[in-house]
Amino acid sequence: MMEPSTDLHIHTTYSDGEIAPEEVLSRLQYIGASACAITDHDTIEGCKVALELQAKYGIEVIPGVELSAHEDGVEYHILGYEFDIDNCNLLEFMEVCRINRLTRAKEIVKKLAERDVILDFDEIVELAGKSPITRPHIAHSMLNHEYVDSIKEAFTLYIGTGCSAYVPKVNFPVSQAIKLIRQAHGISSLAHPGKTISLPVIEKIIGYGLDAIEIIHPSHNPKMVNHYRKVAQKFDLIPTGGSDFHGNRGYDANFLGQFMIPYDSVKQIKKKCEKYEKVLASVKEIA
Ligand SMILES: [Zn+2]
Ligand SMILES: [Zn+2]
Repeated sequence: MMEPSTDLHIHTTYSDGEIAPEEVLSRLQYIGASACAITDHDTIEGCKVALELQAKYGIEVIPGVELSAHEDGVEYHILGYEFDIDNCNLLEFMEVCRINRLTRAKEIVKKLAERDVILDFDEIVELAGKSPITRPHIAHSMLNHEYVDSIKEAFTLYIGTGCSAYVPKVNFPVSQAIKLIRQAHGISSLAHPGKTISLPVIEKIIGYGLDAIEIIHPSHNPKMVNHYRKVAQKFDLIPTGGSDFHGNRGYDANFLGQFMIPYDSVKQIKKKCEKYEKVLASVKEIA
């Protein structure tokens, strides 16, 4: 059997990753990877950059994204693969996500000011760079101005779930995320199910039209990998996987190249996309 050579879960500077898409591809080339997907949170800007560079680094890049969605008040992550990157509905959804994040960040900064933590919003925008503004950027600014001693403390004292300056995210249903990816002719995969998700919830999500499930992930031990492989077989889901790489940060270290899956998963993703496109074409013909 061929060595696993594909990483289908990677973040870059276009979301909360620390490494730019070109550097990621350069590292993957060094490792000897054959294919990858850049799956930034709610944006495909980094993925587009990587798609342009695939020939230069000799690595196949398949379109990817990681969408945040909710089911019964719990957040789940849905990975999208091999979709049409120009699909209007998907682009519109990502723009709404971007605006929501900006509004949320402004509300958090306002709440912090009411608690005598005065931050400069322009500085936070600068810290975020190409990425949408997220809570770690706000925490970073708090740390810079010595309101807290660590990023963790910013979360536990102020901006973590339920804390005094916490503002909840705008919720999108899981079914909507899956539908959006399907309408853009793509494949949806349930990200890191081992983190929190019980089997009945997985079955519910499968009912929304889920195509794949992430079996290889840094948070999955060998027992979990086996378990989710069986789930994939039972429900006819494509097994996907990757490093969920964010950069060289302490808590998730450098996992690039350590959580690869066989290229066969990419083949299965493409085959299923073709099937969907054929069905869609025949529906158009009948109409
Ligand atoms: Zn995730
Ligand atoms: Zn991720």
